[in-house]
Amino acid sequence: MEVVKLSIKLGSPEEQRAIAITADGKHHSYGQLLQSAFKLSSSLLQSAQPTRDATSDDDGQLAASRVGIMAKPCAEFVAGIWATWLNGAVAVPLALSYPEAELMHVFVDSDISLVISTEEHRDLLQGVAQKCSVRYYPLPSVPSLGNSSEGEEVKDSVLFGNIVAEVKRISSAVEGENPALILYTSGTTGKPKGVVHTHASIGAQVRMLAESWEYTASDRFLHCLPLHHILNHLKFHVKVDFMPKFSTRGVWQRWRESYASEGKKVEPNITVFSGVPTMYVRLLQGYDTMDAKLQKISSNAARQLRLMMCGSSALPEPVMEKWEQVTGLRLLERYGMTEFVMALSNPLHGERRAGFVGKPLPGVQVLIAEEAEAEAGVGELCISSPAMFKEYWRKPEVTKESFRDDGFFKTGDTVTIVDGYVKILGRTSVDIVKSGGYKLSALEIEAVLLEHPAIAECAVMGLPDKDYGEIISAVVVAHEELMANAAAKSQAILTLQELQKWAQDRMAPYKIPHQLQVWESLPRNAMGKVNKKELKAILLNTTI
Ligand code: ATP
Ligand code: MG
Repeated sequence: MEVVKLSIKLGSPEEQRAIAITADGKHHSYGQLLQSAFKLSSSLLQSAQPTRDATSDDDGQLAASRVGIMAKPCAEFVAGIWATWLNGAVAVPLALSYPEAELMHVFVDSDISLVISTEEHRDLLQGVAQKCSVRYYPLPSVPSLGNSSEGEEVKDSVLFGNIVAEVKRISSAVEGENPALILYTSGTTGKPKGVVHTHASIGAQVRMLAESWEYTASDRFLHCLPLHHILNHLKFHVKVDFMPKFSTRGVWQRWRESYASEGKKVEPNITVFSGVPTMYVRLLQGYDTMDAKLQKISSNAARQLRLMMCGSSALPEPVMEKWEQVTGLRLLERYGMTEFVMALSNPLHGERRAGFVGKPLPGVQVLIAEEAEAEAGVGELCISSPAMFKEYWRKPEVTKESFRDDGFFKTGDTVTIVDGYVKILGRTSVDIVKSGGYKLSALEIEAVLLEHPAIAECAVMGLPDKDYGEIISAVVVAHEELMANAAAKSQAILTLQELQKWAQDRMAPYKIPHQLQVWESLPRNAMGKVNKKELKAILLNTTI
């Protein structure tokens, strides 16, 4: 029964009682989660209506239909996904950041028949559900440890026995190649696309990450990112602490609570953390504002985690270096996409190379499709992985175009490989600047600009030019104190001439930006990624 293998082992009473999730200070056990999922699955089935998809062989049950789910990271979210799977349905997680128009897009595109959410999103979702003729069901709370009486626990274990029987009985609709999740891409390069993952692709992902990052039941994962990867961790009985809204103070505090300053462990201890580059930048800024004593306690606490990972966009080398100085930990950078979740990683043991996203995870194969006229060894990264998605939801032509004839998936990212380590040069569509006959990596130029003492964040892109084809344009955000100082003195923070002069000794002349704008912030999506298409459009309008 694949769903059971994917979610959790139906093991001993100790395993049932082990903490799975901590959120808002409450601990939920694996048993409580599974029971809630089981109860909810029957309620969902009762509330199910025939799907609106005339082409599906719909019998009014939930099997194979889509169930939208919205909740901040919490136990109810996980129970909701499992309940959906117990019915053989496909879960469609809805991003909390979606404005109503985006939600409508996902509702209509995924053709959901039912949507479930926690209380706080009820009004928004009921409104959208009504407009799209979709049924709404509220997610009930998952009980937490300490709030169920002795008697209830006995009852629970009887119920648990029923669950095992019931799970065994449930049809093979939730096995192997059947769709489990439709995950929407971040929408960095266009409207989010629905990526269909099967139970088998999720299972494969779980196995490869476990092998590479050595997850065990003694791990406790602090989770501040959107929820898609949570299912992987629960498989290994890893405890997951949710921090629904990332805050630098909150994260530093959580680490400090986990570990006493003298290296003495205080339960519960966080062992693994994963973030995106902007989170580490903010955590370092937060660290700089602490007094010396707090800094010492904080860095002592952080250095006791066994693993801190970074991905989703390029990790600037200065950030990696400063992180290592502050915490003694070398960040492990990895590379993934909604389409195959994770495929490349720096090693857990061994050299973690700055500026590189590492080597293929077990079972993953990579090749570079070199473009004509391009430098040898540089081209589009293509991937084959057991965790590869099945298809883009209802986009057969896009799916077909995304795969080569040999079955490798075309990532749209330009890369090169040195000593087996992959370096991401950027998205072929927006990060590869074609200027004066050169193909330049915007990410490499950004990495150098970030070494400038005034620059905190930057985005480099090519803008059309009649002489060069494209010219290099940089939008930068200055460090906060500099901005405040410059504003007080009505001075420019950084001029193009100053930047060009500084860059002369640091990069080839054809890589030096031709244009510079200093902004207060860069437009970023929920994963902290700069939407360069949007940025380009803004720049072109303003410069026209
Ligand atoms: P959309 O497909 O809707 O445009 P998206 O590609 O940003 O959005 P995701 O699947 O979340 O959606 O992101 C995958 C992309 O993120 C990769 O194609 C790559 O460009 C980028 N990426 C991921 N990890 C890294 C990394 N470590 N360094 C640089 N880029 C990365
Ligand atoms: Mg993408």
